[in-house]
Amino acid sequence: MTSPHVWFFDLDGTLYDPRAGLWPAVGARIEAFLQRFLGLDAPAARALRRRYVQQYGTTLRGLMEEHPQVDPHAYLDFVAQVPVEAFVRPDPRLRALLAQLPGPKWVFTNGDAPYARRVLRALKVDDAFDGIIDIVQLNFVGKPWPEAYEHALQLARAPRQQALLVDDVRANVDAARAAGWQAVWVHPEAPAPRAGEIPHIYALLQGLPKQERQR
Ligand SMILES: [Mg+2]
Repeated sequence: MTSPHVWFFDLDGTLYDPRAGLWPAVGARIEAFLQRFLGLDAPAARALRRRYVQQYGTTLRGLMEEHPQVDPHAYLDFVAQVPVEAFVRPDPRLRALLAQLPGPKWVFTNGDAPYARRVLRALKVDDAFDGIIDIVQLNFVGKPWPEAYEHALQLARAPRQQALLVDDVRANVDAARAAGWQAVWVHPEAPAPRAGEIPHIYALLQGLPKQERQR
């Protein structure tokens, strides 16, 4: 069976349970960076992070827009210093799911590739993907900016009509659909799996767009 899809998977909160504790650990590093770099206390750093994510999609984008002297590589190195393996375990069920999906599979993340590789290795699915499209390759313009999706299509040499994003952030899913991609929103509060919206990654086959499921 040839796949109608080129699969683009978000990493954090999508390929592992958002309640695993890893993302809050990364978030604490993000806020610690803001505290050090801008001389803020903890509540101010938290509030600034929230504003940056709302306004710019990611904290890094907000920093680069408002504080151009920031070194994005130093930021990424700093925030990635978390004990990934303490939060994320090998996931044979995810591995089996990915093996069932025909077609190229990419990780499409607003994080950087070394961190993504660590997470994929901890899940034991690092060999299940054709590649990682990270924030550095995206020239630090990540989801949900429209440029990120165009860039990802080019990097993966994927036709737009075949691109399918799986992501836990609603804004990223909406932006993908606006760019002409198909998308599945994965989040724990989702009702029973339906086309385009699933409560966890294991329900992906039930969440595929309608025309695919009728094949
Ligand atoms: Mg995510």
